[in-house]
Amino acid sequence: MKAEIIAVGTEILLGQINNTNTTFLAEELAGLGMEVYYQSVVGDNPKRLEEVLNLADQRSDLIVLCGGLGPTDDDLTKQVTAEHVKEELVFDERGYQNLLAFFEKRERPMTENNRLQALVFKDGESLQNSTGLAVGIFYQSENGPSYLLLPGPPNELKPMFFNEAIPLLKRHFQQDEQLISRVLRFYGIGESELVTKLADLIKQQTNPTLASYAKPNEVTLRLTVNTLDESEGKQKLDQLEKEILSRVGDFFYGYGENNSLAQVVVRLLKENRQTVSAAESLTAGSFQALLGSIPGASAVYPGGFVTYSEETKAQFLEIDATLLKKYGTVSKECAEAMAQQAQKLAGSDFALSFTGVAGPDSLEGQKAGTVWIAIATKNHVESHLYHFNRDRNYIRNSAVMTGLDLLRR
Ligand code: ATP
Ligand code: MG
Repeated sequence: MKAEIIAVGTEILLGQINNTNTTFLAEELAGLGMEVYYQSVVGDNPKRLEEVLNLADQRSDLIVLCGGLGPTDDDLTKQVTAEHVKEELVFDERGYQNLLAFFEKRERPMTENNRLQALVFKDGESLQNSTGLAVGIFYQSENGPSYLLLPGPPNELKPMFFNEAIPLLKRHFQQDEQLISRVLRFYGIGESELVTKLADLIKQQTNPTLASYAKPNEVTLRLTVNTLDESEGKQKLDQLEKEILSRVGDFFYGYGENNSLAQVVVRLLKENRQTVSAAESLTAGSFQALLGSIPGASAVYPGGFVTYSEETKAQFLEIDATLLKKYGTVSKECAEAMAQQAQKLAGSDFALSFTGVAGPDSLEGQKAGTVWIAIATKNHVESHLYHFNRDRNYIRNSAVMTGLDLLRR
């Protein structure tokens, strides 16, 4: 199943808006097991859109167009595509009622061009718009590709895609077969290293397929199997997962698309009824801010400290000033004292501390990227030295993520 995405809009072409719809659609289509081979952007111009459609016809089974379904003169995706496939445009009853209700509620008259938003292909299927007015269209041509037309505003496109397009695409293209995906998440290993360790699996992949996605400091792997039998599909995924984890299991921390390291840590702490505090120097509160961004954080995070200067370390954390003078703030001794004091003062089960050099300049004779992270419990403290390299924010973010990873282990 070869799919292609065409974003229509001069403002995208000119770089005035980011083409986030294509990014979204590409990822979602891949998740449905469709192979997206081409993406293009074309301005609000009938001739050039027709050219792009002609090209797409020759190489794709599914052509997804987004943008240009609105009421204004430059919105011509529907008209051009209808002409392209020689389809008549007719009013969609539900879409039209939706339009009427919208204007009635606002007590505004509906203009003629607004009515156009309820026009659909005579032999197509309509996709209702729960957050806007333009009706989406799906059309399967007789001996050619299928077309899916979606509105441009992301807050309309996304719900329409999830609620209307996915069921429709599944119905049309995956009759008996079904796709089962599983996402594995890794921390502490770079994408290239992970891919190297799995090179033979990636090379021989057909069904299940294996795809990696990298974010700074995190890699996710998506395993997708196409199967007629659900339990057989799951077995295949289990097998592949087992093989993957036998090689890189040390770095694995969880499943699922929306399941960040911070979410995993908060959940684990909650399950164990444990709490964590922190004393942050170079990260200046980002670790605690990230914890706080997770719903339910209050059950595991009583509060903590941000101590950027030597003075506040001494004052807020009651760390002996002579220790700071003797060893410096970027030191094992300082990191451990910070974590121990945070644990004691906050009365938490764990406390983390972060101290180091965010850069770009050196500090206390230590290079940018030098970071100490300590983790303390009531009766124990340990610390680790890291050398992150790259820019300031990368270093600070790496420290935060590494702290979470230490806590998880
Ligand atoms: P409208 O009814 O708002 O006119 P439309 O379906 O005609 O919707 P466009 O006119 O092409 O869509 O775009 C409307 C707005 O949607 C754009 O101004 C932009 O903010 C957003 N948009 C359009 N295309 C994209 C895209 N590819 N990625 C992200 N946002 C987009
Ligand atoms: Mg428009």
